[in-house]
Amino acid sequence: MTCLKDKKAHFILIPLVAQGHLIPMTDLARLLAERGVHVSLITTPVNASRIRPIVQQSIESNFPVQFVELKFPSSEIGLPDEYENVDQIDSSYFLAFFEALKLLREPLEQYLQDHHIPPSCIISDGCNPWTIEVARSLCIPRLVFHGPSCLYALCNHIISKHKILHHVTDYSEEFVVPNMALTLRFNKANGPGFFNAPGWEKIRDDAIEAERTADAIVLNTFEELEGQFIELYEKEMEKKVWTVGPLNLYNKDEYSKSLRGNKRGSEKQEIVLNWLDSHKPKSVLYVSFGSIARKNSLQLKELGFGLEATDKPFIWVLKEAEITPEVDRWLSEDFEKRVQQKGLICRGWVPQLAILSHPSVGGFMTHCGWNSILESISLGVPMITWPHFTDQFTNEKLVVDVLGLGVSLGTETVCWMPAEDDNTIWVHRDDIEKAVQKLMGEEEEAREMRRKAADMAEKAKMAMDNGGSSYNNITRLIESIMQ
Ligand code: UDP
Repeated sequence: MTCLKDKKAHFILIPLVAQGHLIPMTDLARLLAERGVHVSLITTPVNASRIRPIVQQSIESNFPVQFVELKFPSSEIGLPDEYENVDQIDSSYFLAFFEALKLLREPLEQYLQDHHIPPSCIISDGCNPWTIEVARSLCIPRLVFHGPSCLYALCNHIISKHKILHHVTDYSEEFVVPNMALTLRFNKANGPGFFNAPGWEKIRDDAIEAERTADAIVLNTFEELEGQFIELYEKEMEKKVWTVGPLNLYNKDEYSKSLRGNKRGSEKQEIVLNWLDSHKPKSVLYVSFGSIARKNSLQLKELGFGLEATDKPFIWVLKEAEITPEVDRWLSEDFEKRVQQKGLICRGWVPQLAILSHPSVGGFMTHCGWNSILESISLGVPMITWPHFTDQFTNEKLVVDVLGLGVSLGTETVCWMPAEDDNTIWVHRDDIEKAVQKLMGEEEEAREMRRKAADMAEKAKMAMDNGGSSYNNITRLIESIMQ
């Protein structure tokens, strides 16, 4: 194990304040601290309170990681004080939210100037381009951490380099990503790019610039999973790309799995795991769509009917923001009674990592957020894919077309916070039933997916173990900064 305690390596980690970004960077912070690096994890009070217990575990083990809580300027954009995470706001606030993040620069610089150990580098989320100036003012290296897959980062870069979106005016017009060995077809709405919507041009350009000028890139993936894309991305970027994942595998014990991302996960741990204990190995479908994507009542009911029609037991997670009085009534007075023999309905945050680690789980219906996918892959669970927005459509192609680890529900339309009166049904109940059968049935295709999933999970574990590809990359990453 590389021990740099005496050399006072001090890494500054700056995640985006969104669960899918905060969670893997918290894992990275704990992992780096265990490897001897002093880590300052920069966040805001509400986000810190969610992850404090898991970081506390590292602190109690005497690993040198500390929280830095900067006050989030919520009131400056007209939000109540305690709104500090993307999962708390609706889409009309998104642009202002990203603008407000820039106001963290001054207090951050102040903290870094005052710290008794000078910072060695910044590892900052790709959606935090405002950190360019911070690194420049301190004359330290800045590395970009990307939340999504390498395939996504690569496509995003190529599309930007060839200015593909400049020529696409209609959001539904199809284009193919150039210079790729496989044909990847998207439109402007579902194609790579977090910031493709009108009004986001400046933030998009800033993020591309932050990636272009970074000293290196850090990705939560592993060589055995995305080797061909990692090689090409590194060539394209002309800089080192460090793959350090799957970071979720850092959480080995049940307690860490229950706390990861939000201490509230531990409240449901016992009930969910007891329920899973009463089911056969690989028999349960886990249905959850990350921290942001929402469905309206119509689509929720359609999904519920689809799950009810399958012959598989399921755990279905609904977000608090989705549970309107109508949905609540439908669930408690009707649906939950009908499916009580085979379905567990969870309201709000669940300990996803603990659920996916349970031997009874045999399939995951996911929105294709990259963390969810990596967690599934690293735990050997094949997937039913239902992307909702941004990187999720690209991640789906990786899972289904490249890796053969999932069944697609076939939706190509972006849907992340549909209005209650939107009558569109993005996915029909019959398609859900068919997909579950295809993934969890006994046909050869399903068996083959299970074999591949088990094989990739083994490779994921090896990548993170002592001497594995990601383990070694972390060693070299630390060394490269300290040189
Ligand atoms: N997650 C969880 N419990 C929940 C919902 C989500 O633990 O009830 C975690 C999940 O394990 C993953 C993260 O939240 O680590 C979501 O990230 P992802 O990239 O999958 O999707 P996003 O939320 O960014 O859309």
